[in-house]
Amino acid sequence: MIELQNVYKKYPNGVMAANGLNVKIKQGEFVYVVGPSGAGKSTFIKLIYREERPTSGTIIVNGVNLSKMRNGRIPYYRRQIGVVFQDYKLLPTLNVYENIAFAMEVIEKNPAEIRKRVMEVLGQVGLTQKARMLPEELSGGEQQRVSIARSIVNKPKVVIADEPTGNLDPETSWEIMKILDDINQTGTTIVMATHNREIVNAIQHRVIAIEGGKVVRDERQGGYGYED
Ligand code: ADP
Ligand code: ADP
Repeated sequence: MIELQNVYKKYPNGVMAANGLNVKIKQGEFVYVVGPSGAGKSTFIKLIYREERPTSGTIIVNGVNLSKMRNGRIPYYRRQIGVVFQDYKLLPTLNVYENIAFAMEVIEKNPAEIRKRVMEVLGQVGLTQKARMLPEELSGGEQQRVSIARSIVNKPKVVIADEPTGNLDPETSWEIMKILDDINQTGTTIVMATHNREIVNAIQHRVIAIEGGKVVRDERQGGYGYED
């Protein structure tokens, strides 16, 4: 369902951030992507949601060959992939409800349907009571829950998360992990780049370790494996 074949990514400055990646991720897997700073974790994530194009190689997600995708299709494609960032990336002038509704594919959906779905995902992340608040009125953990609600509103098969707990305290990070695990339990694939050793060691899932743009370890039930 996510497949990278001989993927290379050379940035204009000459850095080889993906250096021959061959990775297969099946539907329903939960995968941690770990590795030291500068290893190429974010690049891996960006290649999957087509924020970056590979210099060479093939990337297939949900049967779509990203290398062959026309630029006009990118916004449509991104709506089928949930993406969660370390810094939430909520729209500051929209309230919680609107941030989520805004991300919804509104084609052929009536307002009642949109409202029903937005309230459903708000319930899933425990924020029904905060629908009218602006992002700046929320804690970091609450903002991340909004961003997770936004990421699943279109019922994507895949959620990609780049350091989702990177700005959060340990207790809040566990709450976020609980939500991501619940989403995974419903059959959604999760690919999560992370530096959080405690979480990777405690909630065991597949671990892909990247260094210098290469996969150096791929374990079905791995540990974090770094001392940073
Ligand atoms: P990680 O997420 O593991 O810290 P990144 O994928 O962000 O790693 O970066 C991998 C390498 O690519 C690093 O050397 C980084 O400096 C470089 N890099 C990342 N993005 C760019 C860019 N847009 N232009 C040039 N170099 C980049
Ligand atoms: P209740 O269950 O209390 O009646 P609602 O389901 O009406 O609550 O709405 C929950 C929250 O979502 C409310 O704070 C409401 O303002 C907000 N909301 C509902 N629809 C919209 C919308 N179209 N735009 C912005 N906020 C909305």
